[in-house]
Amino acid sequence: MTTEKSNESRFWADQLASEAKPRDGKHVVGDAKTPSGRIHVGSLRGVLIHDVIYKAVRDSGAKAEYVYRFDDLDPMDGFPPGVPEAFREHMAKPLCDVPSPEPGFDSFAQFFAEEFRSVFEKLDCRPTIAWSSSLYRAGKLNTLIRQALEKADVFNEINARVANVKKEAGWLPINVVCPDCGKIGTTSVTDFDGKTVAYQCKDVKYAKGCGNSGRISPFDGNAKLTWKADWAAAFVLHGVTIEGAGKDHYAAGGSRDVANEVVEKVFDYPHPYNFPYEFFIMGGRKMSTSKGVGVSAKDMGQSLPANLLRFLMTRYKPNTAIDFNPDGETIPRLFSDWDRFSDIYFGKAEARDPDVPRIFALSQIGGKPKDVFYPPFSFVAQLVQIPGVDVPQAMEKYKGSALSADERKELEHRMAYAKIWLEKFAPDEAKIRIVEKPDFAGLTQCQKDALNEFAGVFAKEKDLNVQAEAVKQICEKNGIKINDFFQAAYRVFLGRDKGPKLLPFLSALDSGMVARRLTLQR
Ligand SMILES: [Zn+2]
Repeated sequence: MTTEKSNESRFWADQLASEAKPRDGKHVVGDAKTPSGRIHVGSLRGVLIHDVIYKAVRDSGAKAEYVYRFDDLDPMDGFPPGVPEAFREHMAKPLCDVPSPEPGFDSFAQFFAEEFRSVFEKLDCRPTIAWSSSLYRAGKLNTLIRQALEKADVFNEINARVANVKKEAGWLPINVVCPDCGKIGTTSVTDFDGKTVAYQCKDVKYAKGCGNSGRISPFDGNAKLTWKADWAAAFVLHGVTIEGAGKDHYAAGGSRDVANEVVEKVFDYPHPYNFPYEFFIMGGRKMSTSKGVGVSAKDMGQSLPANLLRFLMTRYKPNTAIDFNPDGETIPRLFSDWDRFSDIYFGKAEARDPDVPRIFALSQIGGKPKDVFYPPFSFVAQLVQIPGVDVPQAMEKYKGSALSADERKELEHRMAYAKIWLEKFAPDEAKIRIVEKPDFAGLTQCQKDALNEFAGVFAKEKDLNVQAEAVKQICEKNGIKINDFFQAAYRVFLGRDKGPKLLPFLSALDSGMVARRLTLQR
């Protein structure tokens, strides 16, 4: 069997899982996102890294939970493209109070959060979802709010020293929802008396305040801690033991340093195991716009199979930046890497990298790896271009036996992606067609004789290995190199010097047509 035991692997997530300390015998892996608009594909990196860690912890035998927070009480502080102008009046309101841009959702936040969630669930990430608005409104943050307000001077000292953020004296790390205008981004808060805080609703860069002021309870969803305090509070509330963040939060004096110190000094709680992760970007925006390929998480799911996206994110350590450019041979290469990793996992090939079995196991969607034949993607992509080819039948010939139900499903899946790839990303060399009128004039007599002789073999012998052996002998006999034979065949069928693996390709074509071409008849 395979080496699935995590203590034998140097795989990054297993290593991280072994370094982090559980709390009360349990790990909670955390991550969060503010659903303020269509979520960029780069945000999937965090979701996936944390999911892989969560599964590594679970595989090590420890109790584990993965909690994903949607920070939907945050203000609408930017205006995403495509949203109707009428939504401008909602700027600075909590995202959970802004209407959904499309029917069927409770709020703006819920619409974009659910869209993102549906993408990451397809990648087999199924964290427990925590909506911060529900938690605040249910009073779950009340104790932490009280602590943060009572120790606001500690928070302000940390924020000033670590992040060089200086606030006016008396400023409190919380924003109330203005009871007059419903905005949260416009309020500044001072003077906590144990029951209420004083607030003022003032203009900010992106929105106008209503100018009112007064006192209000900061509890039960009337207010939300400012984000670094809220981040620290979330660690405590969910008992988070492992949570990384994008590397932009880790600059010297960055928000993560502040949150970590706040969690310890304000909330008297240990900070989670901490690690930065690098960006995931889609190479060249030019490519994206010119070919109409989106860079939202939703669109990405339509261009790259979910298991390959998961594979990509599992394979590379969090501190490796991934610049994914789907143009050219990237996707076929990913498919063939997947197939190779499968062979290694099932002991059919040697691995140079001992992490391969773990990477493959954690890249799966929906359970353990299955020992199946994966139809080579490049070959599938060639076959789908030739009219009249029965691809499943051709693939059975190539495999040498019937396809199982799983294999047939995988083939259909690859055929569908091959069409997407050919349309959106494939280089011109990958596009093939059978020439209508072959040009035999460019071939030497020896090449012609060799093709002719092979026609006899092809008519009788269906076994590809036997055919290959015959080609060798025919070439020797006619005094040509194997490459000259291939080149001649490609010229006759495709009108070019290179092409797919020849023998499986020929066996997928109409045998009458192949016989005519090999015997140099039009
Ligand atoms: Zn107001």
